[in-house]
Amino acid sequence: MGRLIVVSNRAPSIDGASDSGGLVVALKDALSKDGGLWIGGAPEQHEDPSPELVLHHRPDFDVALFELEPELHHDYYLGYSNSVLWPAFHGRVDLIVVKPRYAAAYRQVAERLARQIAETVRDDDLIWVHDYQLIPLAHYLKALGVKCRIGFFLHIPLPDLQTFMAIPDWREMTKWLADYDLIGFQTRRDLANMITIFRHGLRGELRANGNIGVNGREVALGCFPISIDVTGFRRLAIQRAATTELPLLPRLIGVDRLDYSKGLPQRLAGYETFLGKYPQFRSNVSLLQIAPPTRDNVDAYKDIRSELEHLSGKINGNFGTIDWTPVQYIHRAMPRDELAALFRQSRVGLVTPLFDGMNLVAKEYVAAQDETDPGVLILSQFAGAAEEMTAALIINPHNPVGIAEAIKKALEMSLDERIERQNTLYAHLERNDIARWSAAFLKRLMEPDDIGPDNVARFPGQGLWSKAG
Ligand code: ADP
Repeated sequence: MGRLIVVSNRAPSIDGASDSGGLVVALKDALSKDGGLWIGGAPEQHEDPSPELVLHHRPDFDVALFELEPELHHDYYLGYSNSVLWPAFHGRVDLIVVKPRYAAAYRQVAERLARQIAETVRDDDLIWVHDYQLIPLAHYLKALGVKCRIGFFLHIPLPDLQTFMAIPDWREMTKWLADYDLIGFQTRRDLANMITIFRHGLRGELRANGNIGVNGREVALGCFPISIDVTGFRRLAIQRAATTELPLLPRLIGVDRLDYSKGLPQRLAGYETFLGKYPQFRSNVSLLQIAPPTRDNVDAYKDIRSELEHLSGKINGNFGTIDWTPVQYIHRAMPRDELAALFRQSRVGLVTPLFDGMNLVAKEYVAAQDETDPGVLILSQFAGAAEEMTAALIINPHNPVGIAEAIKKALEMSLDERIERQNTLYAHLERNDIARWSAAFLKRLMEPDDIGPDNVARFPGQGLWSKAG
């Protein structure tokens, strides 16, 4: 086999010292083995961008940056990716902003990047493209004669057919997806939606091996739930918590990017209902919500900040006393070790998205717990993580009464039950960490017909879909 070439909208750090996030941890080994290359967007835009990839040598693997003009970057990233695809894929078609120049920029970036990649790639390389910002890449690479196998992983959810059809270019998007050799999803929910979209859009036919026949070729489909560096995060939590003071009151914690998909107003409504319904908990519990801003330049993100400030102010005004603040709201990012310790020292983890590909915070919360006195995870049924983490308290984020009842149940839960749930959740996480995720995807990309025992287990309903096809 040749090299592994990873392509993503955001590149890892070029020095290897300031990597953030688990994706780099997941792919490091595979990349460093055979002289791998990670191609990603440069952190800064340039009025006069380089026509070629800009290569940097890290100790473990090479990083090649693609540079974009500020205006093109705006229309491709904030425009098409985050004002059309992100809301549509998260079921918020009401928030889509359609502008022809956004769609044009999205294609232009993929086409340009494909030309730059085609100059460096060899036929025996494997290309792994990440996420919704770069869906057309395989199409343009293949048009340039690139022969190597190309896989795609969708980190966000894939909506149902009707929602997907709200994207003006949905048919083209479907064709672009059909140009990959393997498409990986977080959940069976997303995989099922893909099959429906291929069937409806391109008369796709599901094969017995789980692949789908579209446009005269076979595309492998698989479900690969992403995870975290479980033992690494746990170690971080233990180390940092050893030097962090415990909170005075049992703490509920929420940690999310400030995004409309995260169900933050719904979470506060549930907490407000809880305090209203169960006065015995007033002054005896607190909620810490950490929500750093993202994509501030996109209109849909401007309102949610003031909405949250208003809601937390309202709860504090209605229920707070001189000695007690019910909601503490922090609007900025935190170092990972601090977050890990905060998770460990919180009795309840609140993860209530309206629609989420996976939700890694849910996994981080579990990884950080003290197994002798663990906290309780409250998890939305609409987070991808809910397919795996069934030992959490699963709630409907649209129902404040349900959230309130779950908070009460979590706070009153016996130590035995907390330990039992934690053990189940942690054992699953430990077996399915991020290294396993990347290994499973790459194995399938190399051997598309070999679904393997793992994927069969994660592919229930396959028989049903085959028969229906
Ligand atoms: P998304 O990718 O949509 O933001 P995930 O829950 O899958 O949602 O991943 C979010 C990641 O960002 C997690 O690793 C989480 O720890 C991190 N994160 C979220 N909020 C903060 C914060 N305030 N400070 C630092 N990291 C954060």
